[in-house]
Amino acid sequence: MTSSAAAVFRNTTDGFEIQHFELPPVEPRGAIVKVRMASICGTDLHIWHGSRKPPLPIIPGHEAMGVIAQLGSGLTTDAAGAPLHEGDRVTWSYIWTCGACYYCTILKEPASCLRRIAYGVGIGCADPPHLNGGFSEYIYLRPGTSIFRIPDSLSDEVVVPTNCALVTMVHVTGAAGVSLGQNVVVQGCGPLGLYGATVARELGAGQVIALDTNETRLGLARRFGVDLGINVSKMSDDDVVAKIKELTGGIGADVVIEATGVPQVLAVGLRLPREGGTYATIGPIYQGATVPLDCFNLIFRRIRLLGVARNDAAHLRTAISFLERTRSKYPYELVVGARFPLEKVTDGLRTVDERKVMRAAIVP
Ligand SMILES: [Zn+2]
Ligand SMILES: [Zn+2]
Repeated sequence: MTSSAAAVFRNTTDGFEIQHFELPPVEPRGAIVKVRMASICGTDLHIWHGSRKPPLPIIPGHEAMGVIAQLGSGLTTDAAGAPLHEGDRVTWSYIWTCGACYYCTILKEPASCLRRIAYGVGIGCADPPHLNGGFSEYIYLRPGTSIFRIPDSLSDEVVVPTNCALVTMVHVTGAAGVSLGQNVVVQGCGPLGLYGATVARELGAGQVIALDTNETRLGLARRFGVDLGINVSKMSDDDVVAKIKELTGGIGADVVIEATGVPQVLAVGLRLPREGGTYATIGPIYQGATVPLDCFNLIFRRIRLLGVARNDAAHLRTAISFLERTRSKYPYELVVGARFPLEKVTDGLRTVDERKVMRAAIVP
C-alpha cells in the first residue's frame, strides 16, 4: 500500500470528498497506523455544521484506533513502556505536544502546549504529511505522539471512544475531585455522561444521579453505574433543583458534571451543587457557546466552576487500564451503535446528529 483514501471535509457548502494521499515517509519515532475504526464525536458534528472552525480542508476523526502499519526507527515501545511492533492494535493521545515549551516544561501542563497539534481537529490536510485525521485508511502519527497498545481483551468497538470520550471523563472527574461518598450529578446521558457515571461509581461516589430528556438513554444509564436517572423533560429548573436537594438531604450535589453540549443547561446546572461544591462543564466545545451566568449564585454559594478539555497521555493511560479492569461490569459495547464505510461518512454524522445512536463508527 502506497496511498490512503481519506474523507476530506472542504467546508459546510461542499461537504466531504474522498481524496487519495501518498503515504508519507516515516520519520524516526513516527508511525503510520492503519485505522480500524474512528468514532464520531460531538466535535465532528460541530465541524460538519460549521460551528467549530478548524483549518480547512481537514480530515476529521480524532477518536480513533488502528493497527501499526509502519514504525519509524527507534520507536520500540509504547508510551507506557510496552514493546511495540508492526501489527499491534493501538490508540493514541490525539493531542501531540512538544515537550519543550513553557507549558510543557515549566508549568507541566502539556494540555496547553503552545505548539500542540490535535489530530482530526486542529490541523488541516493541505500540507504534507496530509494524513492527520482518523476518517482515513491511514493516519500518520508524528514523533512524540503518545501511542498506547490496546489490551487483547478490549474489542475495537469498546476501545474506540476511549481517546476522547472516556479520557475526558477520567480528566474531569479527577479535576473536579470526585471521591469516596460524594454525591455526583451528571447532566446528559450520552457517551460522556455514561462514562462519567462509571468512573464516578468506580471512584467510590455516593449517589450517582443522571439527568436527561431521553427515556432510552436514562434506561441505559442505570447499566452504567447510575443510581437514579431523572427525566427532566417536563420539569422546571426549580423542580430539578428541588429534586436534587431532596435526594441529597437538602444540601445539593458535591460535584455536578455537564455533559450535554448544550450551554443553556448551565443555568440550572450551576444551582445543583451544594455550597462550595463543584460544577464542571465539558460539553459546549464550539466558538460562541455563550450563556448568561447568575454571578450571585456563583459567588455567594462559592461554587467552583471548572472548564475541562485537552486530555493528556496520563489520562489516556488511566482510561485504557480503567476500561480493561471494568469491562465485565458495564455494557461498553453498546456505545458504538452503527458502522459506516469511509464514503458514507455523512450518513454516519447524520445518524449521530439525529440521536439514532450514541456513537457511530467509521470503518475505513
Ligand atoms: Zn509544548
Ligand atoms: Zn471528541
